[in-house]
This record gives sequence, C-alpha cells and structure tokens, in this order.
Amino acid sequence: SREWRLAARPQGWPTTDDFRFVERDLPPLGPGEVRVRNAYLSVDPYMRGRMDDKPSYVPPYELDKAMEGGAVGRVEASRSDDLAEGDLVLHTLGWRDVAQGAAASFRRIDPVPGVPESAYLHVLGMTGLTAYVGLLDVARMEPGDTVFISGAAGAVGSVAGQIARLKGASRVVGSAGSDAKVDLLTSKYGYDAAFNYKSGDVGALLRDAAPDGIDVYFDNVGGDHLEAALAAFNRGGRAAVCGMISAYNTEEPPAAPRNLSELLKKGLTLKGFTVGFYADRMKDFIAEAGQWLAEGSLVYDETVVDGVDNTLQAFLDMMQGANTGKMLVRVS
Ligand code: NDP
Repeated sequence: SREWRLAARPQGWPTTDDFRFVERDLPPLGPGEVRVRNAYLSVDPYMRGRMDDKPSYVPPYELDKAMEGGAVGRVEASRSDDLAEGDLVLHTLGWRDVAQGAAASFRRIDPVPGVPESAYLHVLGMTGLTAYVGLLDVARMEPGDTVFISGAAGAVGSVAGQIARLKGASRVVGSAGSDAKVDLLTSKYGYDAAFNYKSGDVGALLRDAAPDGIDVYFDNVGGDHLEAALAAFNRGGRAAVCGMISAYNTEEPPAAPRNLSELLKKGLTLKGFTVGFYADRMKDFIAEAGQWLAEGSLVYDETVVDGVDNTLQAFLDMMQGANTGKMLVRVS
C-alpha cells in the first residue's frame, strides 16, 4: 500500500520536504481485521493544526506515521463477522490507498439512495454536520435573522448558507476569495449578497452587503473577518466560532479582532465548538439533510484531485482556496 507520512513539523506554510510518500507491504489480515480499498480521501484545514506538536482537541500527527484523516472505501477482504466484502465504510485512517485494521476502526455506511459515496465525507458527513450544528446549536440561528458566513464557498460554508436559507434566515451574506466563488454563492447557494474579501476592506464590504447589520456570524476565517462581524453585529448577536483558517499557516498570531469591546456594548455571544462535541446530532442531521438532498433544496460542489500521490498537493491547494465546495482526493 502507499501512504503519506509526516517527516517534519512545518513552520508556517507546509512544504513537500515536510512529508514522505511511502510504499509498504501490508501484513496478512489478523483475526477480526479487515482490508479496505479507499475510494476518496478528505483533506481538511484542521489537519494543519495536527502537524504542530501542540495540545489540541485531536492529538498531533506522529512523525513518520501515516497521516490520519477521513476516508471512504470498500471492504476488499474481511476476517471479521461485523463487516463483509463489498461493504461501504467510513474511517479516519487517512492518507493512503489501502487501510487495514480492526473492524471496529471502520464504520459501515447505510447508503442513502441517489447519494454518491464521496458525499459521506462532506455534505452528508463531517463538514455538513459542522454547518448544521454550528448554525443551529451553537449560534442558535432563528427565523428572520441576518446571517453572515465567511469561507462561504467551501465545504462547510456552502452548506451553512443553504441551511440558513432553509431555516428561514431573512438575509444570508457570504464572503469568499474569488469573483467566480462570489457568483456561485448568489446563483447556486441561495445567498442574498456576497463579496470577494480580497477586493477591499472586509469591514466596509460587509457593511455594504448587510446595511441593517447581522444577527448571526458563522466564522470560518477569524482575524479581519471576525473583527468586521463584531462591528456589524446587532444587539444580542451570536457567533459560532468554527474555524480561523486565516491564521493556520502564519507564524505570528493575528492582530485582529481589535474591537472585542463590541461584546459588552451589544451583549454579543461568541461560542467556539468542534463538531465532535455534537456527534449525537448526526442522526437528526442525516435525516434532514438526506431529505433536502432528495428534494434538491440542498446542493453541493466537489473539487476532485485524482491519485493518492497527489494528496499533499490537494491539501495545500485547498488551504489556498483552489477548491469550490469540498476538496477530495479520488484514489482510483
Ligand atoms: P473549505 O472547503 O472552506 O476550504 C478552505 C477554504 O478556506 C479555502 O477554499 C479558501 O477559500 C479559504 N481560505 C484560505 N485561506 C483564507 C484566508 N486567509 N482568509 C479567508 N479564507 C481563506 O474548508 P472546510 O469547509 O473544511 O473548513 C472551513 C473552516 O471550518 C475551516 O476554518 C476549518 O478549520 C473549520 N472547520 C471546523 C470544524 C469544527 O469542528 N469546528 C470542522 C470542520 C471545519 P477562499 O477562496 O474563499 O479564500
């Protein structure tokens, strides 16, 4: 099998020297074990955090061990009564073409009719659930709210905007890093207004897009975006602090937000979360999102890179905005 390993801890932006692509022979299957041929691998922003040797909500990647991460594949050999050859499974054994281990490391997927297998890595999986609980459980969005979402054309953001619309937001505003993404936000994902954050001052762009202020902010970016949201909030505003991708590859912490006093002036609530806190919401989410997908009220994009050997490049490209919707690696 072929797998990616972390060779050194990156300083700032990761480089190819920080990784190794390794070929190794798999041992014969032990009792209770299965072998899974991966179909799709997920590359995600949180993986950058795991490359650092710092305590977090998931342990750091170990040097010279395969990079973990979400993947979906099919069982090709089984010595377990729990999984059979041909089963579609989800797991976190990550950046490799073949994954092997105890059956308990793999979760069988009951396929939703008409949904491709890749979808369990995003719109019906981790990033979709993140959008759902971030908006509804963390920010407690109510019908009639004006909602601002940053990173709006990515895997989490594109779903969050549509859920806001489906749950009765009065106005949904998004930001993204290119004009083409901004067009997609309003033409495909149901945003009322959107702006390219690279085209000017984020605070001014947000004021233009939400002249009556915002009630909910779904933060995927941090820094200048969070500062702009604090300034734009109406009284009692709520933010779901989901991610801070603008700071993941910087060596210095960001200077913004400089206006935290808005919290007390407006009675704002900022609540951080990781999707793992809300794993028990997966059932509700799948039921509702499966319905939305079936009726066509929830749509999605994938940016697919072919070949397990291109996984690192796919990760780096995603961190720089090359993806629309979910960035995926198709293994075979
Ligand atoms: P995306 O699909 O959104 O891909 C990342 C995107 O981030 C890029 O496409 C790029 O889009 C944007 N980006 C990169 N650098 C910057 C920057 N400096 N400023 C603004 N935007 C930037 O990834 P995900 O949907 O998987 O994740 C989105 C966010 O949600 C991340 O912050 C991630 O860490 C977080 N997250 C948090 C979870 C949790 O449990 N709390 C779970 C899953 C994700 P563009 O072209 O618009 O710049």
